Amino acid sequence: MTKAVHKFGGSSLSSASRYQAVANIILSQCSAGDSIVVSAAGKTTNTLVKLWQSHVQGDAQAVNDIVLQLQAQQSQLISELLQGEAARELLATLDDELRTVTSASQQAQLHEATLLAHGEVWSARLLAAYLNTLGVQARNWDARTLFTLHQGQLLEQKNQQACLSAIDGEHIHVVTGFIAADSEGQTVTLGRNGSDYSATLLASYIRADAVSIWTDTQGVFSTDPRKVASAIKYPKVCRGQANLLARLGNPVLHAKTLSPLKNTAIKLVVRSSYDPEASPTEVVKEGYSKAKRFITTLENCDLVRVEQLQAGEVRELSQLIQHSIHHFSQGAEVFLLVPAAFTHQVVHQLQGRANLVGSNLNGCAVVAPSNEVTSLYQQARQLLETQEVVVRASHIAQEYALFLTDQLIDADLLAVLHDRLITKGQELAVIIAGLGNVGEVFVAQCQEQIAHLQQSFDIKVVGLLRSNQMLFAASGITLSNWQSQWQNEAVSYTKADLLARIGELDYEHKVVIDITASESFSQLYPDFVSADCHLISANKYAGTAPNDWYQQLRSKLQERNLYWRYNTSVGAGLPINFALADLQNSGDKIVEVEGVFSGTLSWLCSRYDGSETFSELVLQAQQLGYTEPDPREDLSGRDMQRKLLILARDLGLTLDLDDIELSPLMPDSLAAGSWQDFLANRTELDTFYTAQVAAAAAQGKVVRYTGILQQSGATLTAKVGIAFVEPGSALANLTPGDNIFVIRSQWYQNNPLVIQGPGAGKEVTAAGIHSDLYWLIQQLK
Ligand code: ASP
Ligand code: MG
Repeated sequence: MTKAVHKFGGSSLSSASRYQAVANIILSQCSAGDSIVVSAAGKTTNTLVKLWQSHVQGDAQAVNDIVLQLQAQQSQLISELLQGEAARELLATLDDELRTVTSASQQAQLHEATLLAHGEVWSARLLAAYLNTLGVQARNWDARTLFTLHQGQLLEQKNQQACLSAIDGEHIHVVTGFIAADSEGQTVTLGRNGSDYSATLLASYIRADAVSIWTDTQGVFSTDPRKVASAIKYPKVCRGQANLLARLGNPVLHAKTLSPLKNTAIKLVVRSSYDPEASPTEVVKEGYSKAKRFITTLENCDLVRVEQLQAGEVRELSQLIQHSIHHFSQGAEVFLLVPAAFTHQVVHQLQGRANLVGSNLNGCAVVAPSNEVTSLYQQARQLLETQEVVVRASHIAQEYALFLTDQLIDADLLAVLHDRLITKGQELAVIIAGLGNVGEVFVAQCQEQIAHLQQSFDIKVVGLLRSNQMLFAASGITLSNWQSQWQNEAVSYTKADLLARIGELDYEHKVVIDITASESFSQLYPDFVSADCHLISANKYAGTAPNDWYQQLRSKLQERNLYWRYNTSVGAGLPINFALADLQNSGDKIVEVEGVFSGTLSWLCSRYDGSETFSELVLQAQQLGYTEPDPREDLSGRDMQRKLLILARDLGLTLDLDDIELSPLMPDSLAAGSWQDFLANRTELDTFYTAQVAAAAAQGKVVRYTGILQQSGATLTAKVGIAFVEPGSALANLTPGDNIFVIRSQWYQNNPLVIQGPGAGKEVTAAGIHSDLYWLIQQLK
């Protein structure tokens, strides 16, 4: 049986609804024998630190106020999550504990670590009790009974025994993070944000298989995603780089988190409790992922030069101030980067060996593969200079370059740095689904096209899919002989296999190109998006799916900064979707889109001149392969209805298929029944059509099958059906088989914008998909 440890940080437990979200994650992902390590809810530890400071300053009033504040926060959580006896019990214990805190403070007997420990104790107790009310067999553990340190060193054997006997296979174990005991039984803490470390320690003691750190970001990013929208989420990061980032003060992982995992195969992932479906970042052993580029910022640090720094001293100092301290040497000198609030403690401890060389510094560090550091260091220097940032000190090491300045690296500056230093040389993994007519041509065109795009972007086709087999090669499939590779290596797959392969891809960007004719494949789009894939579709399924599903997909894409292109779903390679987007983005207002969006219907109406009957033309078109196998599929107009819906949604309208009026290009009597019935009664089609032609002629017009979308004031017209048009108009004079889009807007009013040309065909469609791919790459640059 596999054992897992899940750690939830303060932000994951900041309110009753966050506890509920955590409980849902536990219900869906955990089984008996798993452990849940928790931090203090929200900012409780900060509040407790304030309480301690007020106590030290002898400010009894402030102590009281803070106790009341804690009481209010905790009781609210308890009352919102528990009822009856369970709630009463926890509220009573909380009262006792806070009374003890107050009186200990009055009698000058408060102990700092014991005080801070309350935050985690409250979280674990409440979460376990809440899980019990949901029918989960949960047990709550105070980590002071599991982890013991003697003179700052973990008593490995004792701890291992304690953990192995505590963590049985029958319960879900909720364990306090952050705290431990010393050999006298006194509380000690593992450093601020130390619950990550608690989780990996526990995992190493109980030999768990995996640790999930659930936080408020979706994983490890190239930079802070809250500040820079184009931050890249890395699917894999190796331990060395993760550790370095933590030492440099990056908040994603605590600096000691990785040490218990050394020499183990325990898998570590970072994921978001706010978005449990999103694909996580896996922190892997050295060599299991290539080194990545990151930029992390530092704020409010002091630079301290130290003489004769001894081994282990930095660790002791970090322990003392409960924060990680980064250190580096330049020549014979050693420098410490200390959070400014703790400098005097550090300087004091070093007793005359420390010199403050810079105070209240901000800055940034570029972490990168070692062969890139030197050139990035130079680029960053120049860039900072052009941005008028005065660098006070800098340092270059094998894996990173560090810059310290008085100025703050704000979100705008960070975005510029990220843009120029990090997103260069990006990679895009391409997965192509559907190797039919269009798919094959697309792949054939890929070779040359990718070579062309390669100059700015590293693009690899890593997956090819047919409905029941797939071929995956993480480092790229050789396109010149994919067929033989397919023969030898394609395997059958399930949805889970496919998603697992996509999840494993170690690329900055991924795109799934759907050239299938499969509706069920389009239903996987939300899964692809959860796995951080951009989407390109050549069919209309997802674009015309029910509005709720469609909107959810859209917002999911937006949350993750992902793109979805489907230009070929309407008018094949014709740039209709581009044109609509472009007009709207440049401030125009589109009033009407009218046109013929079906090559088949275009061919039939434009070819008809009365010399043959309409049904004869239909049969001819079928022979020529211009129609669906049953041409009534074309005559029904449904395909045009779907296309019109896609255009409508592109214009920001929230429509569903049913909102588009549809009248077919055949009498109702022929729509039902078999194809044989149709053949037997096809003169009904001819009567139907000649009646339309006569009615049109009476008005001096000709018959076309069109779609129209028109917004005038509050009224919206959306319909597909027969239209009578002026013989001289663009719609009337279409080359048989062509599509046409007539766009009227504020700026193209009397003289509309017309896009016309072949709206089907494998070459133009494949080329249209390439144009979507090209567009995507431009956005990612
Ligand atoms: N609650 C502790 C802190 O805020 C530990 C943690 O969050 O991991 O530092
Ligand atoms: Mg198109």
